[in-house]
Amino acid sequence: MRRVSIFGATGSIGQNTIDLIRRDAAGYDVVALTGGANIAQLASDARALGAEIAVTADESRLEDLRAALAGSGVEAAAGRAALVEAAHRPADWVMSAIVGAAGLEPGLRALEQGATLALANKESMVCAGPLMLRTARGSGAEILPVDSEHSAVFQALIGEDIGAVERVIITASGGAFRDWPLEDLARATPAQAATHPNWDMGQRITIDSASMFNKALELIETREFFGLKPSQIEAVVHPESMIHALVGFRDGGLMAHVGPADMRHAIGFALHYPARAYLPVERLDLVALGQFSFRTPCETRWPALRLAREVMQAGGLMGAVFNAAKERALDAFIAERIGFGEMAAVVEEVLDRLSSQARHNPDAITLDNVAEADHLARHVADDVMAARRA
Ligand code: NAD
Ligand code: MG
Repeated sequence: MRRVSIFGATGSIGQNTIDLIRRDAAGYDVVALTGGANIAQLASDARALGAEIAVTADESRLEDLRAALAGSGVEAAAGRAALVEAAHRPADWVMSAIVGAAGLEPGLRALEQGATLALANKESMVCAGPLMLRTARGSGAEILPVDSEHSAVFQALIGEDIGAVERVIITASGGAFRDWPLEDLARATPAQAATHPNWDMGQRITIDSASMFNKALELIETREFFGLKPSQIEAVVHPESMIHALVGFRDGGLMAHVGPADMRHAIGFALHYPARAYLPVERLDLVALGQFSFRTPCETRWPALRLAREVMQAGGLMGAVFNAAKERALDAFIAERIGFGEMAAVVEEVLDRLSSQARHNPDAITLDNVAEADHLARHVADDVMAARRA
């Protein structure tokens, strides 16, 4: 029996993870499931899987959660401290699938207790890559990427020498506005941005796909995870979303990872690694697909990609500043306080204002200074947005 915990169990990645675990429920001993406001989902999964504890991040919902779990034997808890306590509970495998910087601390605590961390929460690597890797080395824990591009790179690198890698290419679908006329982007609404041509994901990452802030985070994640130079990492637009990433070696060979747009592949790979187990995903019919196409991403349409290069070059706490400013700008866009195109302008101004303070030796990155940079960047982003409205 493998002891597993799922942070962000009620979300898109969390539910896909539960789908895989349910298919072989006898093989798993579920320790913790966590969620937010969706108490009914959290409680029903916790009951069905016989979890030891269910935690909602929302303190005001503790009584609802207790009521929903009455008589089940599942412990109920709420709030930040309960989330961190749950991450300390011994587990063999932990899924990190909370959205945003809020996912960093639970993932770190899971690494400290030596669990294998299946990392969907890309923000952890963006905000605190060196800290994540150092914590894993310290306890002997392993981090397995679950972002589809990074899982693809990881798989292409099995048995290879990282020193022989020339470049890594991650693909981008282009999101909802790939083919929109540029002049229409300023009027794009949150509902329009929250539709994705190929993937079914949470609202925030879907909007980040339309702006390519998601790809920007993934470029930084690639640098942190695999220790490559920024000049070795590229993004290309690949509208079919069938090739997730390619690794180019010094002999000119390119290893591509091809698969359906179904996150259960990357999740299942991390769940069974190093074995390859059967997974219930579509088998691609190449002839029916016919062809794959690629385009250079236009940085006028997607300025987030240019900002990602600046962040990769700067390193230090700039990733934490970038992510926090992006989260604030995204909140404002979802609340219809700023336009679609303004998100990148706000993030750029926050980066400019904080670039001198955010320089930091990677070895000196701690949870405290990441939290401080995050807090400051949110504050400055709010100032920038208030000044733009004045
Ligand atoms: P989602 O919005 O569907 O789910 C997010 C989960 O986090 C929910 O369980 C929610 O209750 C919980 N949560 C939200 N805010 C929280 C907070 N402040 N504290 C604690 N819990 C909180 O998101 P998702 O699409 O499943 O994405 C989860 C993570 O995985 C993100 O980092 C995303 O970038 C990454 N990811 C997702 C996909 C995908 O296909 N959905 C693919 C690659 C990477
Ligand atoms: Mg991805």
